[in-house]
Amino acid sequence: MLSDFLSLIYPATCINCKETLISAENFVCTSCKIDLPVTDDHKNPENLLFQKFAYNKTIKSASAFLYFTEGGIAQRLIHQLKYEGANEIGDLLGDLYGNIISDKFCPNLIIPVPIHKRKLRRRGYNQGVGFARGLADSFDDCEVREDLIFRIKNTETQTRKNKLSRWLNVDNIYSDVEEDLSSKIVFVVDDVVTTGATIGMLCDKLIEANAAEIHVLCMARR
Ligand SMILES: [Zn+2]
Repeated sequence: MLSDFLSLIYPATCINCKETLISAENFVCTSCKIDLPVTDDHKNPENLLFQKFAYNKTIKSASAFLYFTEGGIAQRLIHQLKYEGANEIGDLLGDLYGNIISDKFCPNLIIPVPIHKRKLRRRGYNQGVGFARGLADSFDDCEVREDLIFRIKNTETQTRKNKLSRWLNVDNIYSDVEEDLSSKIVFVVDDVVTTGATIGMLCDKLIEANAAEIHVLCMARR
């Protein structure tokens, strides 16, 4: 009731086209939702994102939901999600993407790329968790696990270091996985993948724990 009342005074508008939203719409109006810049990466196994991971035989696929462009809808959504407290945008994107790819995969676990506890404290949530949750809804017997692996180094300080120490530093930014992941098909999910280096390190830890297959999924890519 309160939100209905507030929406009379401050009507919610579409993040992209600024049209007033109707009550069934969240963040994005129906016409912008239909026009989302989807990549269809999942239909193209050799896509640009996968090429970042092709060196690793356990990483079976990589796909992004949307194209990320300056000022584009993916950038707006992810900005709101990461810096404006709109955690539910992750759920929305996961839900939409899950519907598109559900007959293509059968994951057992979904792991949102962990963020360092200091960053978690500042932001209040890991922006990948909602996306993971939204995706998990499209699959049977699939759980989101935030307790398997942790970010133990906050590498934001990296820019101050020289090349060699930087290289040494990134070596172990994630904790070891204590559980055996034999026969598990794992989704690793993130917002935007840039170099793929940190995800690669996360995947190495999952492979050490015997993960059967890893698929990298992200909200957007350039
Ligand atoms: Zn719109």
